[in-house]
Amino acid sequence: MRIYTKKAVSIDEITEFSLPLREHLKGISFISGLRIVNRLVSNDGTRKYLFALGDGHTIESVLIEDGERLTLCVSSQVGCAMGCKFCLTARGGFKRNLKAHEICDQILCVSRDIEPERKITNIVMMGMGEPLSNYKEVTGALKIMMEWLNISKRRITLSTAGFVPELERLYSDGFNVNPAISLNATTDDTRSMIMPVNKRYNLKTLLSACRRLPIPERRRITFEYVLLKDINDSAEDAARLIRLLKGVRAKVNLIPFNEYDGAHFKRPDDTTVLEFQEIVARGHISVFIRKSKGRDILAACGQLRASN
Ligand code: SF4
Repeated sequence: MRIYTKKAVSIDEITEFSLPLREHLKGISFISGLRIVNRLVSNDGTRKYLFALGDGHTIESVLIEDGERLTLCVSSQVGCAMGCKFCLTARGGFKRNLKAHEICDQILCVSRDIEPERKITNIVMMGMGEPLSNYKEVTGALKIMMEWLNISKRRITLSTAGFVPELERLYSDGFNVNPAISLNATTDDTRSMIMPVNKRYNLKTLLSACRRLPIPERRRITFEYVLLKDINDSAEDAARLIRLLKGVRAKVNLIPFNEYDGAHFKRPDDTTVLEFQEIVARGHISVFIRKSKGRDILAACGQLRASN
């Protein structure tokens, strides 16, 4: 616990322990940490970190500044096995799960790197990987964040591509952080085409589970919707989205696709995006167009790859 509360990088820093105890601990243990391999700063202030893990693999985290709010987007796996077609992380395939301490080390490492008077205020688990396919380590990390790093569950968001049993388990195990569902389509055909996980847990199964989640009264489920030109951005899609979300306390984040070299999809034009938003809003759903921060350094949604 002291390691986390003090953000200690060496056992010598934990001066609350006696000298003999520190010497003993140094003989049998060490404090793990990440090495910053690269740090890119976007025109809008967003910072993308490339970290090296102990075994040589690399992961990325993104720090997003919005006024007083400092949000860190952390990774839960090295790569990702989900194969979402619009996502750059998916292209590198899956290497391994992160350990709980490697997830939290991203927070500690960035906390030490920013100005001393600033503090990370929010955590989003939307970096590399599908958090719920690494359930044990991710929930271990959530415990550390909430109990030892003093981050309120209301300031933690966990995003999933739609691992239904683990999503339900998360809440029955008492981890009622903010849920975000990466939805991205309004028909099973389209969703299965761009997100293979839909063949296992289709829209009906996923949205039924969302209706059952014991979300506190004043909170909502965020649905992330990456808008892909001519794939999921039509007026019919917007109307279907309203019907799909009936009975769910929902908020929709529209994310116009962030293009990258070799991407198979295009970003819709601004008029299409605004029209989509207007139709959804007419269905009395809170719908926002997500400001894509860090696009110039490939730090925006779906652009993390951990290349050096
Ligand atoms: S969008 Fe998320 S779940 Fe899908 S491949 Fe990318 S990192 Fe994995």
